[in-house]
Amino acid sequence: MARGFKDKLGEGGFGTVFKGKLRSGPCVAIKMLGKSKGNGRDFISEVATIGRIHHLNVVQLIGFCTEGSKRALVYEFMPNGSLDKFIFSKEGSVNISYSQIFEISVGVARGIAYLHHGCEMKILHFDIKPHNILLDENFTPKVSDFGLAKLYPVENSIVTMTAARGTIGYMAPELFYKNIGGVSYKADVYSFGMLLMVMAGKRKNLNAQAEHSSQLYFPLWIYDQFGHEGEIEIEDVTEEEKKIVKKMIIVALWCIQLKPDDRPSMIKVVEMLEGDVESLEMPPKPTLYPHETVVDDQRTNLDQTMSSDDYTSSYDSVERETSSLIENIA
Ligand code: ATP
Ligand code: MG
Repeated sequence: MARGFKDKLGEGGFGTVFKGKLRSGPCVAIKMLGKSKGNGRDFISEVATIGRIHHLNVVQLIGFCTEGSKRALVYEFMPNGSLDKFIFSKEGSVNISYSQIFEISVGVARGIAYLHHGCEMKILHFDIKPHNILLDENFTPKVSDFGLAKLYPVENSIVTMTAARGTIGYMAPELFYKNIGGVSYKADVYSFGMLLMVMAGKRKNLNAQAEHSSQLYFPLWIYDQFGHEGEIEIEDVTEEEKKIVKKMIIVALWCIQLKPDDRPSMIKVVEMLEGDVESLEMPPKPTLYPHETVVDDQRTNLDQTMSSDDYTSSYDSVERETSSLIENIA
């Protein structure tokens, strides 16, 4: 199917992805999972679960392969690749309009809402980021790699795993702070918020004072922009586009609230994105650090364990990641 694994599409935390072609015609993406643990039977039962999931905004699993210690997942092929290519695009490369960006964000929100609330089992993604949003030939977004966190337990903590993959900026704070709330589907809401923030800032002309940008936490900066007249400064955009960006940013600010309980569900997020910007309430100012110091360990939903050293060092990486995020946007 993969014709000797010559056409490599990319590589991530779980393995390497190759392009292939089914005998019946369609192209596929084959994800060869790295060294796997556990037995083939667990793998098959998990795959059966993700295989039953169908939604316009979720990448379809077509099949799987297990042979000895080798495991592979076969997905429908997405000709436009992943979203990162478009939102971090360099000068001169493909550019997509704000209304396309907005449509994509609504699609992604619907996909995640479906995983959380729409299918027979609640599926938490834990790795929402631009690389895991794939685009089909019509730029319809599809959430990919859901179910893998459970399917593929690794010895490392989720922090080191994510740090190694360089996506820590999208990680919910409750994954490294103990005192703000348990780990739940709201962790995905947080990551979606960061994604939305990055998507809204996809153009370089969002007017963050560049000379100070590395000291700025982008969500905080953007919040302050709204502060004065409820208006946001963006150059070279129409009134319509300004409304879209404003809506995306307000929803994003709700999603990245520090306490999981303060974040909306993905169903509510879809509603807010589909509604009028005027009807949206302004969220409370975003905070980076939890103020309370009560240690109440509720993080039991995750299999992974973490030492306090882990979370201190992971927090440093968040800061680093946040400043690089800001540089990308500013
Ligand atoms: P993570 O391991 O966290 O998911 P990642 O998304 O960067 O990180 P992979 O999921 O292994 O890594 O995917 C690597 C790349 O392969 C993606 O960035 C994407 O460009 C490409 N790819 C993955 N799945 C498909 C697919 N179904 N169709 C087309 N390209 C794909
Ligand atoms: Mg991926």
